Amino acid sequence: MLQLREADGPATVIHRADYAAPAYWIDTVNLTFDLDPAKTRVLNKMTLRRNVEVALQPLKLIGEELNLARVLVNGQGASFKMEGKQLVLDNLPVEGSFELEIFTTCAPIKNTSLTGLYVSNDSFFTQCEAEGFRRITYFLDRPDVMASYTVTLRADQQKYPVLLSNGNLVDAGLLTGTGNEGRHFATWVDPHKKPSYLFALVAGQLVCREQRITSRAGKEHLLQVYVRPGDMDKTEHAMNSLMASVVWDEARFGLPLDLERFMIVATSDFNMGAMENKGLNIFNTKYVLANQATATDADYANIESVVGHEYFHNWTGNRITCRDWFQLSLKEGLTVFRDQEFSMDLCADASARAVKRIEDVRVLRTAQFPEDAGPMAHPVRPDSYIEINNFYTVTIYEKGAEVVRMMQTLVGRAGFAKGMTLYFARHDGQAVTCDDFAQAIADANPDSELARLLPQFKRWYSQAGTPRLAADGHYDATAQTYTLNFSQSCAATPGQSAKEPFVIPVSLGLVGISGAALPLQLQGSADPVGNSHLFVMTQPSESITFINVDEEPVPSILRSFTAPVLLDFDYSDAQLLTLLAADLDPFNRWEAGQRLALRSAINSIATAADATGATGLNDAYIEAMRRVLRHPTLDAAFKELVLTLPSETYIAEQLDVVDPQRIHAVREAMRAQLATALAPDWQWAFEAHSDNGAYRPDALSAGRRALAGMALAQLCLAARDDADSVWPGKTYQRFKDAGNMTDCANALQALISSGHALATPALARFHSQFKKEELVIDKWFALQAGACDRGGQVLPAVRQLMAHSDFNIRNPNRARSVIFSYCNANPGAFHRTDGAGYLFWSEQVMALNSINPQVAARLARALDRWKKLAEPYRSAAREAIARIADKTDLSNDVREVISRALAD
Ligand code: ZN
Repeated sequence: MLQLREADGPATVIHRADYAAPAYWIDTVNLTFDLDPAKTRVLNKMTLRRNVEVALQPLKLIGEELNLARVLVNGQGASFKMEGKQLVLDNLPVEGSFELEIFTTCAPIKNTSLTGLYVSNDSFFTQCEAEGFRRITYFLDRPDVMASYTVTLRADQQKYPVLLSNGNLVDAGLLTGTGNEGRHFATWVDPHKKPSYLFALVAGQLVCREQRITSRAGKEHLLQVYVRPGDMDKTEHAMNSLMASVVWDEARFGLPLDLERFMIVATSDFNMGAMENKGLNIFNTKYVLANQATATDADYANIESVVGHEYFHNWTGNRITCRDWFQLSLKEGLTVFRDQEFSMDLCADASARAVKRIEDVRVLRTAQFPEDAGPMAHPVRPDSYIEINNFYTVTIYEKGAEVVRMMQTLVGRAGFAKGMTLYFARHDGQAVTCDDFAQAIADANPDSELARLLPQFKRWYSQAGTPRLAADGHYDATAQTYTLNFSQSCAATPGQSAKEPFVIPVSLGLVGISGAALPLQLQGSADPVGNSHLFVMTQPSESITFINVDEEPVPSILRSFTAPVLLDFDYSDAQLLTLLAADLDPFNRWEAGQRLALRSAINSIATAADATGATGLNDAYIEAMRRVLRHPTLDAAFKELVLTLPSETYIAEQLDVVDPQRIHAVREAMRAQLATALAPDWQWAFEAHSDNGAYRPDALSAGRRALAGMALAQLCLAARDDADSVWPGKTYQRFKDAGNMTDCANALQALISSGHALATPALARFHSQFKKEELVIDKWFALQAGACDRGGQVLPAVRQLMAHSDFNIRNPNRARSVIFSYCNANPGAFHRTDGAGYLFWSEQVMALNSINPQVAARLARALDRWKKLAEPYRSAAREAIARIADKTDLSNDVREVISRALAD
């Protein structure tokens, strides 16, 4: 399907079906590093043995960007040949173990890709997942080869006082002998076998916060969070999150910390969020560093979930790992599910749990559903790839988590915990597949729907695309029955034209016109089943009938979003208003509000395509929003979610042909309408929620700050329309006086998004106040690149930002804060009728391509959905994509994304 042009021949497509066990096992690895930025020397001594289950064949080790100096087999010079990136050794001992010694050098300072061994702020870091270890030494760099590692680091003591690797520190001291003046060493032994992608080392000037904890079994552990000197005052929240993670995994799943020492190290140059290297997690600073002056509530929440995520990988990923990279969701989907559950379990009440669920579903819908409908659509367990780094996707992570969540729904919470126990009993220490996981959960629950339907359920792993669940309801007043008819379908995705039906768990209930939850009694069953029923759909079409229904009900379908599907039900506005006001499921209350707003948006977009969205929101909706905002018992975080209109991206997904400017104009008009119509209510909301006392990042007070921030933004917007300067003035004052970054950033954002002139001095002040805080300067860039476009001013501003002395395209956080904030997160500014946004995008993809292919490939996905665009956007987008495709020196990463975008 893919036509790939490349300098050294066509790129190889890797197929899941081609999996073969390795021809050799590596039992032990002894690595010695002489660390030097320009030329690091790596001595790799391994013991290997043949895998007797595989036909005798040469040993092929892979390496990239290495200078090979020496190869010894059992201490003797050995003959070898090079086949591309592979070091091929023949005539190896066929019985027993043998020693292989490989000596190479590499140049970390020149490594801008941030995979393998690299330098960041004068310190050394590694990133080996998925295939970075091959940039450190020749190896069987695949996750099913698990070895015991001993690692010695040698380096200048002054420049690199801290030397870290996986496991336990067994020796350290000064080096002696000529040439070793001022140099020291440290030797680490990892007691656990691991695949190469979990290897890590860190060397540099770092300080650490320490915490000793005792596990339930009475074992002592040392927790450490390493940061640059000067950042110690931002480590408390990460440490608290780590301690909470340790406690939670033991309490919920009986999984204890299996290491004497668990370390987290922060670096400001990192491609992703963080990495679960055994005992030595390496984190993007963004997901470690926080204090109230520099980090927002969202940052605090992200830190909690990323620290949890990486810690939970210690069992789901490290103790049991993936057989091959097609199984990536085995560890990622499961671990995202676990971090979602962790964050929910830390919530004080049901409402906060629902807020977390809504936020997770929002990510799924705005990022994963489009992926599943676009050129990069792939199953949770893909069948092929060119560059595995392109498959660290929302499908593998977030949809993968939904698949695990459906399993829990089908076997129950206790049943799922039992399944996890069986999974570890069976597979601890192994490299396994998604099938193995699903089998364990099903086998532990032999009487469950999951066990009964397992082969069909596993279509969630093999079929790409978001299923559509269509439903309609029929009330028979005489018979007092209510019937729901369901049918499912799933659109074709690349390489998969026809789909088999899925197993779709649908939690549902019926709501009376007064808002009361009606008792549910299924036809054919003697007793009512309560207020909620789990209907497990397996056929293309199915119906269920409830009896003794004495009024025409409003169905509440897919409560808590029990399956990652698109639900079509032709609700009337009145029905949605009932659900919004009264459903017992907070998720569906929020959903009803979203449906109402979406309907208005779509109507406005369809009518008067030349007007500015005049049809807008109707009075009933606005009144309903007022009631939510003023509601005496709903909590603030939930109100903020209900009052947030569906995003432009989400609206675009509902349309067959997308005019991004039209969507932007309509949504902005709706936002302004809410601002004006609810002005006194926003004022009340701001005043009632603006003082939260001493800063605490808990969900309750974060929700209050979020609602106050939203109120300010709305008040500034309303002021813009009536040229009032009271609220912008108050907002500027709040920006200056704010005692925490959340209030400060919200006030600044309110000025920016309303386009008020005070935004300019505020931004200048913000920059000078925080110029030494990298992560805050990222926000400064992102706020401007993400600003609401009024007449095309954002693109020139973005080009200027890129010329700012603080801008550095090599730093991924900084590149994301400007380029991605504009291209991926600001559709109203990016999709310009003159195509200049797309031209900018293509320039940046090409610039990043030669610096950091992984980051470039992520940016390359900004136009995934170009085929849905209306003219003139569509042609301009195509041209920009083709411009990239024409470039001859594209990385495999970018080439794969761009070729898929152009494929029919
Ligand atoms: Zn992960």
